[in-house]
Amino acid sequence: MSGAINLSDRFCADGEYPCPVCRHGTIRGMPLMEVFACQFCQHIFTTNFDRQLLKMADSQLPLTWYWNGKGWKGIQRESAESGGRYAIAAVAFLVLPTAIVALGGYLFPTLPGTPLSWLPFFWMILTFLAHLFCLMWLVVEYYQLPIFLYFQALRRRVIGN
Ligand SMILES: [Zn+2]
Repeated sequence: MSGAINLSDRFCADGEYPCPVCRHGTIRGMPLMEVFACQFCQHIFTTNFDRQLLKMADSQLPLTWYWNGKGWKGIQRESAESGGRYAIAAVAFLVLPTAIVALGGYLFPTLPGTPLSWLPFFWMILTFLAHLFCLMWLVVEYYQLPIFLYFQALRRRVIGN
């Protein structure tokens, strides 16, 4: 096993490249197969040498990288435009249910001083926090995945296979 990384400018079938997922291991072509694998995090990638692309094959998420001659560049799954649409959807997801609950509390106010007069306000806060939690979970799932994989690979290395 030669540890040297072949620093050819092109991404080609017989080269060795740093792993874009764990940024720790080396990926190289597997014998008799048209895939690349990392010896550290053990992920499998499909390749497209014409377009210099590397695509993760064993993940639900379509993670793709472009080889620019020196390193991997992550390809955004969405353009900035649809990213803006997601931001609007996220804000609507957060604000609308909270507004509906708040409106309900406004239209049907409880009598001040009654035992449950705090409930509409409490319910509004709870709605907001629940939706905020969902949103944060989605964001972490979406952006942090390679970091999760990195810790997974690190743990595997520390514990041993
Ligand atoms: Zn790796």
